[in-house]
Amino acid sequence: MQLTNKNVFVTGSSRGIGLAIAHKFAQLGANVVLNSRGAISEELLAEFSNYGVKVVPISGDVSDFADAKRMVDQAIAELGSVDVLVNNAGITQDTLMLKMTEEDFEKVIKINLTGAFNMTQAVLKQMIKAREGAIINMSSVVGLMGNIGQANYAASKAGLIGFTKSVAREVANRNVRVNALAPGMIESDMTAVLSDKVKEATLAQIPMKHFGQAEHIADATVFLAGQDYLTGQVLAVDGGLSM
Ligand code: NAP
Repeated sequence: MQLTNKNVFVTGSSRGIGLAIAHKFAQLGANVVLNSRGAISEELLAEFSNYGVKVVPISGDVSDFADAKRMVDQAIAELGSVDVLVNNAGITQDTLMLKMTEEDFEKVIKINLTGAFNMTQAVLKQMIKAREGAIINMSSVVGLMGNIGQANYAASKAGLIGFTKSVAREVANRNVRVNALAPGMIESDMTAVLSDKVKEATLAQIPMKHFGQAEHIADATVFLAGQDYLTGQVLAVDGGLSM
């Protein structure tokens, strides 16, 4: 898929990995929808002013089915279509299994996994009709390997992999491709809160011996969006952590 002039909805793009992904698509000439639960600031919009593309801020909560549909409807009304959906919005709520409450579990599943369902449901029909589309789901190495203190997060991210492969099979013959990315440890607000002890222990397991940057994930996302013969795959961008 040629990305110039395509319309890309990146959920959770007010900071971190999602913001880097939005920048990368805009650099390539795609129009982007910026999204988060909070308001998208004027400063953030100004960062995109030199790309010469349309940038549409749409606040809302992906975990709310009706809100997801409202956001997609607004994007289609303003841009004409959503050609690429990046289901990037996600949270952690880490604690050991014995201490994990029903609320800790359900909140993470609802945003990370149900959120991707809600957004995919909202965009899919028009992609199928257009006979073109790409969906990229942000999984994690934790969905492949598991992690202490992240039973809720790992379940959501492993769930996204099954979701990706199932939807990919359903829509492949309509030229709609669905892939997942499994980032390793990437520097962002999400990982900044981890203790030095946890960071050092993770670093020791990474063959490349350093953390990744949001730009590494952005590069991989545009690759998955643009590669016409690639669907149902999980690409680990993790410095070798999960090999
Ligand atoms: P981050 O810095 O915490 O950013 C998360 C983004 O998601 C923010 O824009 C946040 O904005 C938005 N968001 C959260 N809940 C939302 C909701 N219900 N609806 C809409 N937007 C929502 O996280 P990140 O590190 O960039 O991670 C991005 C994605 O990559 C996540 O899915 C994460 O699980 C995955 N990932 C990250 C790493 C890593 O090492 N950082 C590794 C593997 C996978 P608001 O809070 O304002 O809504």
